[in-house]
Amino acid sequence: MTSRTGRHFLQIPGPTNVPDQVLRAMSAPTIDHRGPEFAALTVRLLDLIKPVFATSGPVVIYPASGTGAWEAALVNTLSPGDRVLAFETGHFATLWREMAGALGLKVDFVPGDWRHGADPEELARRLAADTKRVIKAVCVVHNETSTGVTSRIADIRRAIDAADHPALLLVDTISSLGSIDYRHDEWGVDVTVAGSQKGLMLPPGLSFNAVSEKALVASKSARLKKSFWDWAPIIEANKRGFFPYTPATNLLYGLSEALEMLYAEGLPEVYARHTRHSAATRAAVVGWGLEVLCADEREHSGSLTAVLLPDGHDADHVRKIILERFDMSLGAGLGRLSGRIFRIGHLGHFNDLTLAGTLAGVRMGLDLAGVRVEPGGLGAALEVLRDA
Ligand code: PLP
Repeated sequence: MTSRTGRHFLQIPGPTNVPDQVLRAMSAPTIDHRGPEFAALTVRLLDLIKPVFATSGPVVIYPASGTGAWEAALVNTLSPGDRVLAFETGHFATLWREMAGALGLKVDFVPGDWRHGADPEELARRLAADTKRVIKAVCVVHNETSTGVTSRIADIRRAIDAADHPALLLVDTISSLGSIDYRHDEWGVDVTVAGSQKGLMLPPGLSFNAVSEKALVASKSARLKKSFWDWAPIIEANKRGFFPYTPATNLLYGLSEALEMLYAEGLPEVYARHTRHSAATRAAVVGWGLEVLCADEREHSGSLTAVLLPDGHDADHVRKIILERFDMSLGAGLGRLSGRIFRIGHLGHFNDLTLAGTLAGVRMGLDLAGVRVEPGGLGAALEVLRDA
């Protein structure tokens, strides 16, 4: 590695760039997690976190990556042999489905082409056919990080309501929370799964379950085995400001600071910023004559854009050149998209010029890798940014 100047461009769709304020907050001395100062921090934080989920219910915080919060959502609400309906939106939906199977659940996995979100009409058909009401939960990845496609959760909710079906709705917002408009209470979500390392602008290491009243009731009779993930002792200890295990104290300092930053900007403004950066990125990609992976206008992700390369080109080669020449990391294609796409992360601590620099790096990297692109894409993106 040659020596580098300036900052590395971390433009993967998470973990994202951590703001200096957050890094500084996390560098404070670790305190006694059983003492009064910590209890005050927890009580304040458990309230402070609610608006980003748009919930008034409890949010459980785990010292774990997002995968842990996936497991927590399942084991707290379901029993061995329960049937769940999930949608193959991409790599992460596939991993969640595999986990559900490994935990002893029976998963109906609606096939998908990794270019569309969960289909509310197909959901309506499946629920209508479920006359015996054996489906206990519907699992949807809100923002499929492997494809840059955002499922329409409000429409998913409407489909469940129209079928008058009692299934729980479990939603993964790991790459959407704090970046894309999301409403746990309004959309009747029962468990929202989230992680610290993307829109929340923190390092990896925290994950979350926002929990509805209906999910709490379900948890009383759910029989999948659980210990560490069990909501009940955590919610109980949280009432006094504590956790039944050693919490990730310094990440919680960072969480407090990051939430204050998001609220100071205003959540609607945060979502509008992500939408604008997504639109500018698409203007560049389309202007270059390349294809955006997301195939539905209504489902473009605000937090990342996946770019398909023409046949005969290896997306990992393009990423390698961009890393070596311009010190910028882009997201790799995952699973069946390996080598075919690269992903531009435009979420978290990010502004117009960070995006302009990112797209300039992509443009030069495509040239150097021998991918033929039309002129004008970068200019089109700058116009979107300028005219916003
Ligand atoms: N779900 C989605 C949508 C993700 O993007 C990720 C990770 O990127 C995960 C789940 C898994 O989370 P983690 O890697 O933090 O365990």
